[in-house]
Parts: sequence; C-alpha cells; structure tokens
Amino acid sequence: MVAKPDLRSLTADEFAESFQDLGQPAYRRDQILDWLWKKRVRSIDEMSNLPAELRQTLKERYELTVPEVARAQGSKDTTRKLLLKLKDGRYVECVLIPASPALYGEQSDRLTLCVSSQVGCAFGCKFCASGLMGFTRNLTAGEITSQILLAEELAGTRVNNLVFMGMGEPLANLPNLLKAIELITSPQGLHIGARHLTISTSGVVPQIKKLADNPRQIRLAISLHGATDEVRSQIMPVNERWGVEALFEALRYWNSQKKQHLTLEYILIAGVNDDLEQARILAKRARGIRAKVNLIPYNTVEGLPWVRPSEDHCRAFRDILKNSGVQATLRLEKGHDIDAACGQLRLREENAKMGSTIEKG
Ligand code: SAH
Ligand code: SF4
Repeated sequence: MVAKPDLRSLTADEFAESFQDLGQPAYRRDQILDWLWKKRVRSIDEMSNLPAELRQTLKERYELTVPEVARAQGSKDTTRKLLLKLKDGRYVECVLIPASPALYGEQSDRLTLCVSSQVGCAFGCKFCASGLMGFTRNLTAGEITSQILLAEELAGTRVNNLVFMGMGEPLANLPNLLKAIELITSPQGLHIGARHLTISTSGVVPQIKKLADNPRQIRLAISLHGATDEVRSQIMPVNERWGVEALFEALRYWNSQKKQHLTLEYILIAGVNDDLEQARILAKRARGIRAKVNLIPYNTVEGLPWVRPSEDHCRAFRDILKNSGVQATLRLEKGHDIDAACGQLRLREENAKMGSTIEKG
C-alpha cells in the first residue's frame, strides 16, 4: 500500500496542487492550513468548520500524525529536552533553550529550539553521540516541524529562534530540509523569520552551495573542529571527502549569496584539536570569510574517551582568536550550551531499551 501524504509535510503550494482536483473552493484550503499551522489540530476530525464529507475525503487521502512526547526533562527557565517517539517507534529529541541572561540581558525573550533532522547520523564524527549510533532514516518535513509545535505546546509560548543542531546532518536530508524551511518561514505556516533559523553542517560542500542558492536569508554554522586537514580528518570522516580548502571555497560562495555572517563551531577536545597553533590557523581562516567563532568545550559522551581542555587552556585558545580581531565566544558552564544536549538523550534511551523488552525500535 502506498503511504498517504502527511498533511504537515506538504508545503502550501504542494497542498494547493494536491487539493485542486477535489473541486473545493480555495477558502477551504486556507481553512485547512489554518487548522494545521495556527490552531494546530492533532486530527482531521478536529477541523470543525469543514463539512463532514470533506473531512472524510481528507482522511481517505491524507495522514495527520503527531509524534508522542516520550519524555520531557528540565523545567521552565532552564534547558529542556524533549524526547519524541515517531510513528515507527524511532526516537528523536529537541532541546528548548531560554535566553541566558548573561548573554542576552535579563529582559531577553529569546527562546531557542534545537531540532533534529535525521534519526541517527551517517557522518560518523568520532566525538559525537549521534555519529556513534549510525544512520537510521531521514525525518520528514512534518517530523521536523512537529518538534516546534510540541516544544511550543510545552513552553506555552512561541519559539523565536531555531537551530538545526540536534541529531543528524541536515544537509544530508536537503529535500525535506528545504520543505521544512518553507513551512517554518511561510506566513501560512509557522511564520518564523529566516534570519532566526540556523542550519548547522559538518561541511557537505555541494549541499552548502545548493542551500546558498535558496533565496531566504537563513544562517549557516559550520562544525569545523579542526583548522587543518590533518587535525580535522582525524575526527571528521567528512573531511576526507571535502577538505578544508573545498569547504572554505563553498563558504565564500555562501557569503556572496547571504548577508548574515557565518559561524564556525569549534569543539575543544584535549590533546586532539586544541593546540594553540590550530587557534592561529583558525583565526586566519575565520578572518578570511568574516566568520564568528563559537568555541565549545567538549561535553563528555558515554562510551567515548575524549575530554575537554582546562578552562585556562580554553581561554588561551579564545584569546588568540580575539587578539587577531576575530569575534569569538567561549561558554564554559556545563550543560547549558545548546550543543551539550543534542544526541545524548536519545542515546541513553536507546541504551535503556536494549536492556528491556518493552518495545521494538
Ligand atoms: N550534523 C550537524 C548538526 C548536528 S551536531 C553538524 O555536525 O553540524 C550540532 C553540533 O554539536 C555540532 O557542531 C557538533 O559537532 C556538536 N557536538 C557533537 N557532539 C558534541 C559533544 N560531545 N560536545 C560538544 N559538541 C558536540
Ligand atoms: Fe553527524 Fe553532526 Fe554528529 Fe558529525 S557532529 S556525527 S555530522 S550529527
């Protein structure tokens, strides 16, 4: 049996096209979009201003599924992790991060959500919990956007900043990512400004160029984690395919298409990529593309041997960047930064599951 299209995975244009042969007036289509994205119903039956017959037709044609919140950790005003169970029993997570007063001032109402783009990840970075699990499947556009709906429901307020830094490599799921971006930014969808959307990638060069050609002013963050091929290839297999030079060439192309500054993410792992010579090379590279640098002391992952450098060493690394005129941030508090949580909650759940017979994944 062919799977029915998921209503929340269709862009407004795709829905309009698929809706056309039903012979319904256009305002019905707008009513349905309103139920999906503004009133956020969980079932077609809840679309109470549609004739019963139309609801029946919709049910025959389409599916409307919402992931289940399997677990929510943390409390208001702190980082909150949501573990979501998808309809095939797989798990993904997303993380709600309220503005840190230290970074944005007491009054900031910024609420960031870190979303996943895949179940697992095929890229196998040596330090990463998601890489450790291997790849299971891509998320649909509806599964990506559902994370926002569920997080907003939990928070009781709108998410106004979105980062694709959860599980998965978003650029390896480009068709669904592009649909999700459309649904997220569209006024008929979630209506979050493209500037408040950051895609993070380990450096899938051809896809960076494709995304650069998308007219929306979305932001891009690169998981660099090594300033030379020698260091980067040791921890990121993707670098064997597209080396640092090819990556920076793509980033220069990105800059030619977009207004917002790029961000380079750099995890500091003791004895692996934290040599101060790396900082000097990184500074030069960042300056060349006018990028900001985000330094993230490594968060320990169960089952992996890596550790973070001392605070003094992290500061010394940052100061080299700052002293060469690069905007660099270093967040030392543990478990507070957005990068801390991603990948790790699901790993625990999967581990727990392996020791039980409650459900099959
Ligand atoms: N696949 C994409 C997006 C998801 S990873 C990418 O790699 O960019 C989001 C960020 O978390 C990446 O910068 C990744 O390198 C970082 N990360 C992964 N494991 C980490 C860990 N244990 N401690 C700190 N950051 C980590
Ligand atoms: Fe995948 Fe990103 Fe983790 Fe690398 S860092 S394994 S690309 S999720």
